[in-house]
Amino acid sequence: MAGIYIHVPFCAKRCAYCDFYSQTSHAYKNTYIESVARELEERASYIQGEPVETIYFGGGTPSQLKADALGRIFNAIEQHFDVSKCAEVTLEANPDDLTEAYLDDIRSLPFNRISLGVQSFNDDDLQKLNRRHDRDKAIEAVRRCQETGLTNLSIDLIYGLPEQTLEAWEANLEAAFGLNVPHFAAYHLSYEEGTPLNRAMKSGAVRPVGEETSVELYHRLIEKAASAGYVHYEISSFCFPGYFSKHNTSYWTGKKYLGVGPSAHSYDGCSRQWNVASLSQYCDALSHNRPYFEQEFPTIRMRYNEYIITGLRTMWGIRLSLLKEMFGEDYTRHFEQQAGPYLRSGKLRQTDDSVCISEKALFTSDGIICDLMS
Ligand code: SF4
Repeated sequence: MAGIYIHVPFCAKRCAYCDFYSQTSHAYKNTYIESVARELEERASYIQGEPVETIYFGGGTPSQLKADALGRIFNAIEQHFDVSKCAEVTLEANPDDLTEAYLDDIRSLPFNRISLGVQSFNDDDLQKLNRRHDRDKAIEAVRRCQETGLTNLSIDLIYGLPEQTLEAWEANLEAAFGLNVPHFAAYHLSYEEGTPLNRAMKSGAVRPVGEETSVELYHRLIEKAASAGYVHYEISSFCFPGYFSKHNTSYWTGKKYLGVGPSAHSYDGCSRQWNVASLSQYCDALSHNRPYFEQEFPTIRMRYNEYIITGLRTMWGIRLSLLKEMFGEDYTRHFEQQAGPYLRSGKLRQTDDSVCISEKALFTSDGIICDLMS
């Protein structure tokens, strides 16, 4: 089983913290749709005939595409791939876009999951982040989806905002939990190079929260999520039992996926590809039969390291039998030697065949992961 990711590189406006590839000019929209359809046709054999289990429209802001444009992409997918076993079809959306009319328009499309970029239920936070919506719009969007039967919802939240207090973060979490969404992801704010927020930090206009506050905010998140009934299944992801994101989980478990659109990444089980992060170059290359991606063939060492990085992010951890089967005795011995001190200190824990990072060490997991890499 494999996944398809469609990157939609359009946003109505740019958020202050974002370094994902997208643009606010929508001039190329029609050309983009045709290019995506063409890429899907050209790469029909990429996942080697495996049935598609998940389809994910991410961005950018996929909800900036109208239903007929989304429908055109679905037609191309259905024409070239086996979607008979497809279980999860996600649309990333901005709360502003999910009007009654829009939800009505997309009703006939195969979406069965919506991932909403809420980020915060605090209007001051939303203004600082330069988001388009406010708290009320976010709540309305969630309710509207639920009323129309789209109950498999996820919301994204950001914490660690400048001057954020524990109380403010708790209020945010309570607002989120009050909506009874079965899945949410919470990311610590990062100051990515080239973003307005990064410039504000460098000029001294904005001061990041300290490490100690970040750790407290994360621990509060874990506690609150657990008492609201969420399973913490990945460093940043939480869900009610059974509602984990099948699509994201496939990235962490080494399944094949085809990424279509500018800047999208793909993995076919032996090589990785990434499309050019430029809409005009992407469309131009596709219409002139020129290459639009780069490719690498990861060595065994690179694949071992990837398994460590992705596996330890999840509650399923590293499976020792799989480690041995995929990478052999030497890598397994390296892992066991490096893991020893962390297992004794309780930062890693082992259950039967699996080794995971314990909850108390999750926020500082980068150092542990580095030590386990080769
Ligand atoms: S966070 Fe999302 S909506 Fe904001 S600029 Fe980035 S891709 Fe666009």
